[in-house]
Amino acid sequence: MHTPIIYLKGVSTSRAELLKKELGLKTYSDLINFFPNRYIDRSRFFKTNELHANNSEVQIIGQITALNSVKQKRGSRLVAKFSDEFGSVELVWFQGAKWLVDKLKLKTTYVLFGKITVFNGKFTITHPELELLSDYKKSLRTAMQPVYPSTELLGKKGVSNRVIFKMMQSLFLEVKGRLTETLSDEILEQLHLVSKNKALFNIHFPQSQDDLSKAQFRLKFEEFYYIQLQLIRKNMLHKTKFKSFKFEKVGAYFNNFYKNNLAFELTNAQKRVLKEIRNDLNTGAQMNRLLQGDVGSGKTIVALLSMLIALDNDFQTALIAPTTILASQHYISFTELLKDTNIKVALLTGSVKTKVRRIIHEDLENGELHILIGTHAILEDKVKFKNLGLAIIDEQHRFGVAQRAKMWLKNDLPPHILVMTATPIPRTLAMSVYGDLDISVIDELPPGRKEIQTVHRYDKNRLAVFKFLKDEIAKGRQIYIVYPLIQESEAMDYKDLMDGYESISRDFPRPEYQISIVHGKMKPEAKAFEMERFVKGETQIMVATTVIEVGVNIPNASVMVIESAERFGLSQLHQLRGRVGRGAKQSYCILMSSFKLSADAKLRLKTMVETNDGFKIAEVDLKLRGPGNLMGTQQSGVLNLKIGDVIVDSEILKLAREYAKKTLKNDMNLERQGNSRIKKTYLQISRNHGVWSNIS
Ligand code: ADP
Ligand code: MG
Repeated sequence: MHTPIIYLKGVSTSRAELLKKELGLKTYSDLINFFPNRYIDRSRFFKTNELHANNSEVQIIGQITALNSVKQKRGSRLVAKFSDEFGSVELVWFQGAKWLVDKLKLKTTYVLFGKITVFNGKFTITHPELELLSDYKKSLRTAMQPVYPSTELLGKKGVSNRVIFKMMQSLFLEVKGRLTETLSDEILEQLHLVSKNKALFNIHFPQSQDDLSKAQFRLKFEEFYYIQLQLIRKNMLHKTKFKSFKFEKVGAYFNNFYKNNLAFELTNAQKRVLKEIRNDLNTGAQMNRLLQGDVGSGKTIVALLSMLIALDNDFQTALIAPTTILASQHYISFTELLKDTNIKVALLTGSVKTKVRRIIHEDLENGELHILIGTHAILEDKVKFKNLGLAIIDEQHRFGVAQRAKMWLKNDLPPHILVMTATPIPRTLAMSVYGDLDISVIDELPPGRKEIQTVHRYDKNRLAVFKFLKDEIAKGRQIYIVYPLIQESEAMDYKDLMDGYESISRDFPRPEYQISIVHGKMKPEAKAFEMERFVKGETQIMVATTVIEVGVNIPNASVMVIESAERFGLSQLHQLRGRVGRGAKQSYCILMSSFKLSADAKLRLKTMVETNDGFKIAEVDLKLRGPGNLMGTQQSGVLNLKIGDVIVDSEILKLAREYAKKTLKNDMNLERQGNSRIKKTYLQISRNHGVWSNIS
């Protein structure tokens, strides 16, 4: 199986080199696992009097009865008449005419394959595939013709689909029946899977739709199964390897707060998630949990309550946010929530003065300080805790794995880690991306929320939009107006923002209206100052770039206007919209765009108008952009799938995960006799480069 493909019949050095460069095919094994991406049904033969002008692909048996070169402006084209006993069709070649004239044989029976068109009232097939009937009968034939992925260069160099198919034929004639099984008998039997041999053969040479689907199912299952096996095993190993503090009790901090300071009843989802976290904290193994919940689902209170459990067990905790603004916001809401307790909270960001910073450092080290909230500044080596028991990281996607790991260095034992994200990831994708984290989902919003009303307006409706904004301001509400800021065109975007600010200042003149502006080029102090004015209600309009995207919580803000909304991705639009709808009042999101929109942009805006459900939006996003652009996918291997598709095959993925769990449950090191094949394959995959190397 590790034989280089150059040993295969008909593969020259240069061709082998090309296949390696273009498709990464080096060995027999690579080639066998190079799967077609579609199939053409060639189970039927047409007669020439049965043809329809429906642009479909047909297969005909017949002979070439006439062959002519026709001069044209540049070079010549080749025209042939292809006949069977019922009539004839015209064949045309615009390229390779010279070469073909000598090669094509008259009065010899061919199998023709091509797409039917009508030209000058005649059925015509351009650039048909022709194969001698005698060859056709000899070849490893298949009713479903596989079509392999290809590249432009391969096409140019004559490595057509036919060539790949031929290689596959010689390969299978050589290795047939010698492909080793990779799943256990138990799994094969329980799921009625076809053998590896049969699956691989039928994926390349299916005789029927049924054979093909069985082969696909088996191979997809296997692919997902081994990825899940790796992820789940890694998670299990992590738990045995990384001990952490055991938080045995829930005490006064938690109970008193729950009884006296909690202003509302937790939703069922919040309760469930809190229970999951509590269980984790009490096992002695390090918690590594991802907490997913849509904007406004109430993650903060879950974070706080988890922290109180740590305090009850005499540990300190930290909350890390991606931006200074967010960290300050968390700090403000935590101090507010904890104002009737004796819990000490401090804020540490890059802009904290040296003097204050020194005090924080001291209090942390001697254990005076219970909760530290901050930005990356917390990760600096100088920041030492007396005993950090739990670290919560807000908004994961701005925060690398490396930084997560850094938290470990602050103790002898690593603290428990809870990562919170408001970017909903479809469950199936989360499984494959975060298989090594445990996942909790808050899938329910607090009661009594009013749905945010979302509309899409074109630039020409601007006057009406402004009128609406003025009415809202008159009711005492506040308004966000957000401009896109995309790294590549930063200068231009910045100009758009400034132009926008000027025009808004003109339409909303002082002193009646006050406007704040916040963008990335401002100094942190200036940003904080502007933000503060808006928080206090001194300004009614906040003009901003996406800096305000995450977490900012101003309940009185009821309208989110997004300029050039067509330039934002769906998840970003959803995040931005989540900035409003936080109070009791009806809130609105207005998506402004130009009139001309791409199909994708239209679908994005339409989706936003139709739903507020973050998970639904994430599904559409995933379909539009593929998993490649979602966070975390780069490390996960879901991009390198050979045959499975996390979206289309999510059911198979679920099944594979279930089975991987079952396999590992009582046999984590795959030592059971019945799992020997699985162990062998698993080890091979872990050793090999390629698909799975990124995961471990
Ligand atoms: P996010 O998940 O986006 O971080 P927050 O934690 O900021 O959401 O919560 C949004 C708002 O909902 C806050 O004002 C919070 O006080 C409130 N809230 C959270 N949980 C509940 C609940 N169970 N019932 C009522 N209001 C809640
Ligand atoms: Mg939040």
